[in-house]
Amino acid sequence: MGKLDGKISIVTGAAGGIGAATAARFVREGASVMLVDRDDAALAEVARAIGGDRVAYVAADVSDPDHARRYVDATVQRFGGIDVLFANAGIEGRVAPLTEYPVADFDRVLAVNVRGVFLGIQHAAPHIALRSRGQGGGGSIVITSSVAGVVGSRGLCAYIASKHAVIGLMKTAACELAPLNIRVNTVNPGPIENRMMRSIEDQAAPGHGDDVKKGFLGMVPLGRYGTNEEIANVALFLASAESSYCTGAVFLADGGFVAQ
Ligand code: NAD
Repeated sequence: MGKLDGKISIVTGAAGGIGAATAARFVREGASVMLVDRDDAALAEVARAIGGDRVAYVAADVSDPDHARRYVDATVQRFGGIDVLFANAGIEGRVAPLTEYPVADFDRVLAVNVRGVFLGIQHAAPHIALRSRGQGGGGSIVITSSVAGVVGSRGLCAYIASKHAVIGLMKTAACELAPLNIRVNTVNPGPIENRMMRSIEDQAAPGHGDDVKKGFLGMVPLGRYGTNEEIANVALFLASAESSYCTGAVFLADGGFVAQ
């Protein structure tokens, strides 16, 4: 028996490292999953790799209100409802000092990482509410924040502001949606071994990304980056009835990054 048998989930950022691993895990645990990402070709590849008739995909820009409505409607049409939203799409933006940070880049990071999450919840929650009452564990919304949502650092002002902001959104949504038996939490990864960290390392010191990585590793008590699958494990816990008393909370999966 799977931990998400019969559940219907949306996963945004599903063509990326964490999203693809989580979508695959959700399907293995019995869910039907709508993959959402702006990258159409990569989405098709992830859907093909997962396989079966419990996976479908729709290309969308999560920051666009019309697209948000479209991917939510497509999920309801294809699978008959929604139980779980994994609002995971995000961009790192530029690495630059705050005093030199381009305004357009700042706005884009906030639009994807914050407005995208807000729109996903706004459109999906009414559908989740139609199925959440009386269900063990209820409906679940899981937002990917970050260690950058609880501590600051240098060079990533837009990203860090955005990942703090979604914790505020999460707490508000948790309070407003609790009467509908919908739980809302964030998963907060530390550095993960995937494209996004390569981008941050290379931007921080072009041509010397390996040195930047060594610096980051020194900040992780477990001494390594995490894997996409380790974040999928936490997302699965928060999506499933195993976390039935968890709402409004921040779940770090960071190898101890913010403990020191
Ligand atoms: P990733 O770059 O592999 O995946 C992000 C995905 O989001 C990509 O497939 C991208 O196409 C998609 N995306 C970006 N903008 C979009 C938009 N406007 N509309 C739809 N899709 C869009 O990186 P990842 O690590 O898998 O990132 C997933 C989430 O995890 C992000 O929110 C990220 O901020 C967060 N996170 C990552 C790390 C890390 O170390 N990689 C650490 C903490 C938090």
